[in-house]
Amino acid sequence: MSLLDVRELRTSFRTDDGVVKAVDGVSFSVEKGQTLGIVGESGCGKSVTCLTIMGLNNRRNTITSGEALFNGEDLLTMSSRRLREIRGNDVAMIFQDPMTSLNPVHKIGRQLVEAILLHRDVSKKVAQARALELLKAVGIPRADRRIDDYPHQFSGGMRQRVMIAMALVNDPDLLIADEPTTALDVTTQAQILTLMSRLQQEFGSAIIIITHDLGVVAEVAHEVVVMYAAQIVERGTADSIFSRPHHPYTWGLLGSLPRLDADVERLVQIPGQPPSLLNPPRGCRFHPRCPYVMDICRADHPDLLPVTADPEHLQRCHLDEETKDREAEKLLAGTLAQAQAQVRTG
Ligand code: SF4
Repeated sequence: MSLLDVRELRTSFRTDDGVVKAVDGVSFSVEKGQTLGIVGESGCGKSVTCLTIMGLNNRRNTITSGEALFNGEDLLTMSSRRLREIRGNDVAMIFQDPMTSLNPVHKIGRQLVEAILLHRDVSKKVAQARALELLKAVGIPRADRRIDDYPHQFSGGMRQRVMIAMALVNDPDLLIADEPTTALDVTTQAQILTLMSRLQQEFGSAIIIITHDLGVVAEVAHEVVVMYAAQIVERGTADSIFSRPHHPYTWGLLGSLPRLDADVERLVQIPGQPPSLLNPPRGCRFHPRCPYVMDICRADHPDLLPVTADPEHLQRCHLDEETKDREAEKLLAGTLAQAQAQVRTG
């Protein structure tokens, strides 16, 4: 049994303009101790997927269906009390901006101690010792002194480390990190990703990392889900997605990764914008932006189907496999040539 098994998840929001299908038939699983990367542009449904699983959408205007089995229990249908218990003890979330989650008027140590006392039946002294231990585990230098600092006295990267410490208070089985490194510079981002991988080995938690950046996924994920316009367009192991990507949207994401020799003007972006989810295009939802579009793509919505050579690798595209293999090879050869050129000029 997987730690988390999400099946045919659908989430719609009632708005004044109509019903927005923000998540439309999404299925994936997360294994114990593994990292799943969910990647896609803003508004593709990746964050809503996780908020739905955690029961954090506004219930009044949300319609949800499907299943999200956590250790076999359905998070979507269980009582609010049981869901709160799981959220407090077994699943934790880390958000993009730690300042929205940390209380600016309380010292870091106090906030950690309160979080520990809320969920554990221990004395204040034990909680204080645990808080210090966690700050050390996430690499806060001189933690014994900095435990008495306020959040504004920490840099963005250090605040994110504190949030990770806060999330680890109860040794969660599953950690959901929503764009945890987006607000950070590249060096700090790399440090936080290394820290998360190290802590995963130490604490054994599974991680779902939500990001718009395929580069982040490449650093940490074992499994990858690529989302576009509320649906999965490609899913597989990180090895298979990065060695043989099968969807033109994934190729676009790979092609838009920053290059060490490129300035901002030269970054390649996927042309066009994602569609409105109030009224997504007929046929393949990516067809208005796809350089490989064919007549069938405008009329017929592709199913999510296994790749012949690797049944665990799923893709949603009408292109034949020969073309996909050829294009993926060209893209990867270009990336390799560019990396080699960088090594030569570096
Ligand atoms: Fe492009 Fe057609 Fe594939 Fe959609 S189905 S990604 S439009 S080739």
